[in-house]
Amino acid sequence: MDIYRSLINIVGRDSVSNSQEELFIYSRDSGAQRPRRADYVVMPGTVKEVQDVVILANKEKIPITPLGGGFTLSALVVPNKGGIVMDMKRMDRVIEVNEINRYALVEAGVSQAKLKSYLEKNHPRLQHSTPEAPPTVTVVGNALIQGHGHISSRYGINSDMINGMEVVLPTGEVCRIGSSSVGPYWFTRGPLPDLPGLFIGWFGTTGVVTKLSMKLYPRPGYRELLTFSTDNIDLIPDAIFEVTQVDLLEDFFLINQEKPDWMNHVFFCLILSGHTKEELELKKNIYKKVFLEFNTLKGSRGADKMKLVEDLHPALRKRFLDVPPVAALAADFRKGGGFEYTGTILPIDKIPEAWRKGIEIAHKHGMICSYVHQILGGHSIMFAFNYSFNRADEKDVERTRKALEESNRLTFELGGMVWKGEVGAQRLAMARMDPNTAELIKKVKKSLDPNGIMNPGNWEVVK
Ligand SMILES: Cc1cc2nc3c(=O)[nH]c(=O)nc-3n(C[C@H](O)[C@H](O)[C@H](O)COP(=O)(O)OP(=O)(O)OC[C@H]3O[C@@H](n4cnc5c(N)ncnc54)[C@H](O)[C@@H]3O)c2cc1C
Repeated sequence: MDIYRSLINIVGRDSVSNSQEELFIYSRDSGAQRPRRADYVVMPGTVKEVQDVVILANKEKIPITPLGGGFTLSALVVPNKGGIVMDMKRMDRVIEVNEINRYALVEAGVSQAKLKSYLEKNHPRLQHSTPEAPPTVTVVGNALIQGHGHISSRYGINSDMINGMEVVLPTGEVCRIGSSSVGPYWFTRGPLPDLPGLFIGWFGTTGVVTKLSMKLYPRPGYRELLTFSTDNIDLIPDAIFEVTQVDLLEDFFLINQEKPDWMNHVFFCLILSGHTKEELELKKNIYKKVFLEFNTLKGSRGADKMKLVEDLHPALRKRFLDVPPVAALAADFRKGGGFEYTGTILPIDKIPEAWRKGIEIAHKHGMICSYVHQILGGHSIMFAFNYSFNRADEKDVERTRKALEESNRLTFELGGMVWKGEVGAQRLAMARMDPNTAELIKKVKKSLDPNGIMNPGNWEVVK
């Protein structure tokens, strides 16, 4: 009760809770992982409040789990060791948009939808990279987990777009990182020692980010979807190479679904954009030629041939052209709304093997296979092994956990890495990791967070 009272003194009675009903929500997420207990939830409204909660937790050695939108699905915001869930949603100001220098400075609770609509209203010529996730997820949470958005095929993953940040360290100091540490602008992370890396990919284990500056990009006037299909999985790596050799795409993803039958092909979805209709038309013609030449190069015929899909259902076309596109297409909602995926970051040449083995895993666990993969430039792919399940059926959820575990293992066997992996996937990574690298991770965490209060259980070596 002393902790509860102290938290009330910091954030006010309305912004702290230890009621069972509210803790129930914060003890689970919408993926397939098992619930874990939270003891308190706090919603700070200012940096000072974040700082005071962290100082209290550090003194009392109480774990803190930072939470943005809570939608990684892999339970990264469900406390492993109880303690405080720090929900950042009250800190939701878009502090500054600097149009000429093309960046947005946001607080940690700003949702993707809020930044998107703010830009559409006030800076219609600029856009940020929006993930295909639900609109309530935060810009900060997404960037910190190395997420990707609809322009990541072109400009890099979303953590590459970070210019700098403000962080409350686990010992309570407020620290600015990037150009804002030396001047008034939040426009670049260097040339300085690259400190943002101390907070990116760490799942909140090294501090609480309170502000973040993200790069913005030109918003085109026109967008169009060009879709090609083939039935030959082995052609995928070479086709991706040829498409990305011509560097004119806004977004690029692959989809496939076993049901309905008409979706059971490999679809290459190319999102093209242009500032004029002529520019768009030119790009469309260039890519049609790329596929034509690819067919000639490979001598492809029949089902192997890359075919232009001219009759894509208008509703589907619209869903792909929306920003964000509806990725949840891969979920089978008839199964009760449960959905989780192993997000594998994979070398492009391993796609055919991953594709076939992913189908085997899905079938083994009685699921249909559905894929939506985003091409990250010409260098890697976010290959999603998607699983839908019925939340109300514990056996079905358990099957999904097994399937996730198998696709996690497969990922590492193929030389890939699990993106935003749950604790089990992190353990697999740590077990395979060069021991000196694992030791370095431990040292970095220990020096920033001597009492181990920040989202403990993540990125730990289990002996
Ligand atoms: C249908 C669906 C589609 C999706 N598609 C995509 C996609 O296309 N691209 C993509 O990138 N993701 C996708 N996702 C995954 C996920 O929803 C997003 O990445 C989302 O943006 C994560 O942000 P969040 O606010 O929910 O993060 P959270 O889940 O709240 O947090 C993520 C991690 O960051 C930490 N964290 C959060 N805020 C802070 C902070 N202020 N300081 C320190 N640490 C913090 C948390 O502790 C946690 O470890 C999808 C999810 C679903 C359900």
